[in-house]
Amino acid sequence: MSKIIRAMTKDGSAVAMVTDTTDIVNKAIGYHKTAPTATAALGRTLTAASLMGSRLKDKGDSLTLTFKGDGAAGIVMAVADYSGNVKGYIENPSADLPLKPNGKLDVSGAIGSGYMSVVRDVGMKEPMTGISEIVSGEIAEDVASYFANSEQTPTLVSLGVLVDKDLSCAGAGGVLIQLLPYADESVIDKLEQNVGKITGLSSLIASGKTCEQIMAEALYGIEYDLFDEIDTDYICDCSKARMLRAVKSLGKEELQKIFSEQETIEVCCRFCNKKFSFRSDIME
Ligand SMILES: [Zn+2]
Repeated sequence: MSKIIRAMTKDGSAVAMVTDTTDIVNKAIGYHKTAPTATAALGRTLTAASLMGSRLKDKGDSLTLTFKGDGAAGIVMAVADYSGNVKGYIENPSADLPLKPNGKLDVSGAIGSGYMSVVRDVGMKEPMTGISEIVSGEIAEDVASYFANSEQTPTLVSLGVLVDKDLSCAGAGGVLIQLLPYADESVIDKLEQNVGKITGLSSLIASGKTCEQIMAEALYGIEYDLFDEIDTDYICDCSKARMLRAVKSLGKEELQKIFSEQETIEVCCRFCNKKFSFRSDIME
């Protein structure tokens, strides 16, 4: 089971979240049959979206994080609910690039340059959309830049996905720390130092470090309270009824044309690859 733990510094300067998303990323690999670089790109996006989704207030709220770059991965997106459950999609799951000189998966190369967007649907007439430029394509820096520019919230983000030799995910997770208004300068300095020191987050998780231990490293030297823990999962909420609405949105004329050439329409959920098939009786 994946999970998120959350803490607040005792002086109210910052809220910190740590997540282990190893199971979520392994489910994503199972659904999308991703190559290593694609696994890292999608896994980091899922991890970031899960953390961001857990900041939403109400049941029914959702957040969609999308990277639209010109790299080999194509569009990479993840949708999270208010309790951090996620589902994701990558346009080119077979995207795989040579390792970078430092031995890491080349996520920035797979994402490329372009734009990222964050759409928050919180039950208002129109969802709130924030768009910002992809600054590095490494996902964590892009999310931090989005928070700084679109939400004016200084945020430290670290994300990691370690892909094993058998192409499964050995460890994945993330740290997201947001400064609250009037944050103490000395706390900010400590947080930056601490997060900078957490190298190889995914290796730490793969080696068995718990979220609580990683939180202790991220908030080293700062007093804090852990205030909650939530279980998270890769959950797809697709249904035959929802797919039927999508098919019907093609319009009667288009459907008539399709059914004159074939007996059924097959639709595949892009988040979990579940297949749905419809016959012409849906037009009645
Ligand atoms: Zn689905």
